[in-house]
Amino acid sequence: ALTAGIVGLPNVGKSTLFNAITQAGAESANYPFCTIDPNVGIVEVPDYRLGKLTELVNPKKTIPTAFEFTDIAGIVKGASKGEGLGNQFLSHIRQVDAICHVVRCFQDENITHVSGKVDPISDIETINLELILADLESVTKRIQRVEKLAKQKDKEAIVEYEVLSKLKDALENEIPARAVELTDDQKKIAKGLHLLTSKSVLYVANVGEDELLEAEQNPNVKLVREFAATEGSEVIVISAKVESEIAELEGEEKEMFLEELGIKESGLDQLIRAAYSMLGLATYFTAGEQEVRAWTFKKGIKAPQAAGIIHTDFEKGFIRAETVSYNDLMDAGSMTAAKEKGKVRLEGKEYLVQDGDVMHFRFNV
Ligand code: GDP
Repeated sequence: ALTAGIVGLPNVGKSTLFNAITQAGAESANYPFCTIDPNVGIVEVPDYRLGKLTELVNPKKTIPTAFEFTDIAGIVKGASKGEGLGNQFLSHIRQVDAICHVVRCFQDENITHVSGKVDPISDIETINLELILADLESVTKRIQRVEKLAKQKDKEAIVEYEVLSKLKDALENEIPARAVELTDDQKKIAKGLHLLTSKSVLYVANVGEDELLEAEQNPNVKLVREFAATEGSEVIVISAKVESEIAELEGEEKEMFLEELGIKESGLDQLIRAAYSMLGLATYFTAGEQEVRAWTFKKGIKAPQAAGIIHTDFEKGFIRAETVSYNDLMDAGSMTAAKEKGKVRLEGKEYLVQDGDVMHFRFNV
């Protein structure tokens, strides 16, 4: 399963946020495919469509989809020099599919800042620099190999050499690989290098509990936004402390608390959705009398693979998928009405599944 890793300097609020994630945590019994590991937090993906489908179908149960956040431990500073815990930090980042980088924007004299003052850009750069240095080492090693072949006029080597040079140039100027402009072909080559700074990043600006409503006026948040824009990354503003309080509530209690705070959606829910989309994930639904359920898929997969997410037999014996988009189904008002209106399509093996599809798979056993 794809996972987003949570990183950040010490004392920025990572554990507070991660605790909120595990508190809010999903019933793991519903998600046997999820990892059981104290460093992994399983979260349900908030999706208003699931509630609407439940009202429409009135099933016995409703199951949201889920995905995983990984808490990345280890020491940041000096990590790229490859010593002990620092090394562990890099290898953990290597294993995640995208990064949520928590940045301290809250002021609190009682909580020591590792570098003495709250300075989000310097914090971001401290972590990014370690990743950049590690990548620079990988790229330099690779260049040494490819250079010889390129000189012998090996065509593939020439193309790769160009990409490597471009990346090396950027990294030497402390620019992450994700911010380097490449053609589609060059991107494929870069992907094969598995660089740490190629991974997408979501910056999580952690503001004080009393700053949540006016967060956009917070100069530190502004700085984080400006920085993120230079590399095309997104920013989510949260207060980890508030999230840990919200995570203890459910249903109406939660809604009332959010209302009191003057916010529509918890920061954690925003974070979950942003990370989900950063990972290239989307949701399709199954809707029967027994169960209405959301399923996560990686954008770009075809119908049989989507069926395989439910059960491998569904993929092996796949015949076709009766498919209706969420919007069409809602417009029609019922599955029967959607069928009458011709909105339920019979899709075959080549169908590219879309976010919001409501699917019913036909298969041979
Ligand atoms: P980590 O080292 O990054 O995991 O940071 P922690 O989550 O342990 O947080 C460090 C300290 O900062 C703890 O005492 C938290 O209670 C506190 N903290 C975290 N978020 C906030 C916040 O939004 N406001 C305030 N005032 N304190 C916070």
